[in-house]
Parts: sequence; structure tokens; C-alpha cells
Amino acid sequence: MSGTLKKLWQRIRSLLSSGEFLCDTCKYDWGNVCRRRERPNATQCPDYKRR
Ligand code: SF4
Repeated sequence: MSGTLKKLWQRIRSLLSSGEFLCDTCKYDWGNVCRRRERPNATQCPDYKRR
């Protein structure tokens, strides 16, 4: 899947989901601490840590 398509698909999936993203409550969601591509719409993340 091309990068653009992948991004679009992620966006659609995030819109269809309940609007709950792990990043919203993750302690790594500030500055450049997290460089994962899923951010800020991660719904699954092995690095997730609650703030
Ligand atoms: S570690 Fe995962 S959940 Fe936390 S901000 Fe980064 S992508 Fe989001």
C-alpha cells in the first residue's frame, strides 16, 4: 500500500473508531518524545504508558 493510501486508511479507521486514541492519554505524547508514525492516532501501541 502506498504511503498516501496508508495514511488515508489510518485516517478513515480513526474516524470510524470511537475517537479514543491511546496517544491522548499517553505519557509520551509531548514534544519529540514519541516518534512513532501512529502518533497521534494510535489505537494499538506497544510503547503506550498511561500518564
Ligand atoms: S508511545 Fe504510542 S500511544 Fe504513546 S504517544 Fe507514541 S504512538 Fe501514541
